[in-house]
Amino acid sequence: MSDPLWDEFDALVAAKQRFVLSTHVNPDGDGLGSEVALALALKARGKDVVVFNDGPPPHNFAFLAALFPLEAFSEARAEEVFAAAEVLVVLDMQNKERLGRVAKYADRPGLVTAILDHHVGDAAFGQVNVVAPEKAATGELVYDWLKRDRASLTPEMAKALYTALVTDTGSFRHSNTDPDVHAMAAHLLELGVESASVQAEINRHRHMGRLRFVGHLLQALKTSDDGTIAWFEVTPDLFTRYDVDGSDTEGLVDFPRTVPGVEAVMMLTDLGSGRVKVSLRSSGRVDVHGVATSLGGGGHRFAAGITLEGTLAEARAKMLAALGAAVAALDPALRAYAAARPAASRSR
Ligand code: AMP
Ligand code: MN
Ligand code: MN
Repeated sequence: MSDPLWDEFDALVAAKQRFVLSTHVNPDGDGLGSEVALALALKARGKDVVVFNDGPPPHNFAFLAALFPLEAFSEARAEEVFAAAEVLVVLDMQNKERLGRVAKYADRPGLVTAILDHHVGDAAFGQVNVVAPEKAATGELVYDWLKRDRASLTPEMAKALYTALVTDTGSFRHSNTDPDVHAMAAHLLELGVESASVQAEINRHRHMGRLRFVGHLLQALKTSDDGTIAWFEVTPDLFTRYDVDGSDTEGLVDFPRTVPGVEAVMMLTDLGSGRVKVSLRSSGRVDVHGVATSLGGGGHRFAAGITLEGTLAEARAKMLAALGAAVAALDPALRAYAAARPAASRSR
C-alpha cells in the first residue's frame, strides 16, 4: 500500500540488498529495540543486515542481542561492514555526530542514508528522512511501517518494539503516552509479548551496588533556592565506588519531576574527559528542548540532552542559568506549585 510518509523508504528497501542499522551513542531501549525489529523485518524480506553501533547495549538490554546480533564499533569491523553496505538506516537520532565513531562512515560515496526518528528538529542528514516528532518512540514509527503488513510482525519483532515503547514512555507514565501508544502495546501483547518479563529485564538491577548508587544519588539530590530546579551530579569516582556505569543512572532523572514546585530536573554526568553529559526533564511547562538546542543539544519538549565541554562546575553554572531563565519566563500562575495551590490564592 502506498503511503507518502513511507514511499521513499519503501523504494529504498525494494531497490537495495545490503543494510547497516545504527543508533545514537549510549544506545537506549528505543534505539536498540527499533534496530532489532527493523533488522528482523529486513532479514525476513531477504536482505543482508548488520546492526552496528558506537557502543555495546547496556546490560539491561542484553536480551535484545539474543534476538539479533548488536555489534559495537571497531575500526576493522567498520571498514568491513561499510565496504559492503548499500544503505545506512539511522534510528532514533538525526544529528550525525550522535552516531559517535560510526559518523565518519556515513559519508561514504555511494552509501544511501535513511533516517527514522521522532526527535524535534530539522537536522536530519539522510537522503531519505522519516521524522515524526508526534511519535512517542522511534519504535512506534518502525511499528507503523511494519503493521501495514500485519502478517509480517513476529513475536520477536513485537518484543523489540515493546521494549522501545516501554523505554521512551517511561513505562507508559510520560506525557507522550497517547491512545496510539496503548493500541500499539495491546497489539504487541496479542502477538505474545509478556509485559511483566520484558519490563523486569529493562528495570533489572545489575547488583545491590546499583541500588546503593541510586540511594546515594537520591540522598545527594540538589535543589535551587526556590525549589524549582532539582539536579543530580554524577562523578567517575561514584561509578568506581558502586561498580556501575552511565547506564545505571537511566530513569533516575524522572524521579523529582513529580515533587510539587519542581519545574525542571537535570542529571549532570562528568564523563571524566573534560565533557559533561546533561540530561534534562521538564515537569510539563518548561521547554527543555529549547534550552538544550540553545546550547547545542536536542531531544523533545519535556526530555532533552546535551553534552557540554568543560568541568562539572562549569556545566552546573551554565545549566542553572539557562534553566533558571526558562523557569523565570513562565507565567507564575502556571507554575507547578501555583497550579497545585487553591485557585483563590492566585492573583488573576
Ligand atoms: P537522555 O536524558 O539521555 O535520556 O536524553 C533525553 C532526550 O534527549 C533523548 O531523546 C535524547 O535522544 C536527547 N538527547 C540527549 N543527549 C543529546 C545530545 N547530546 N544531543 C541531542 N539530543 C540529545
Ligand atoms: Mn534514544
Ligand atoms: Mn526515542
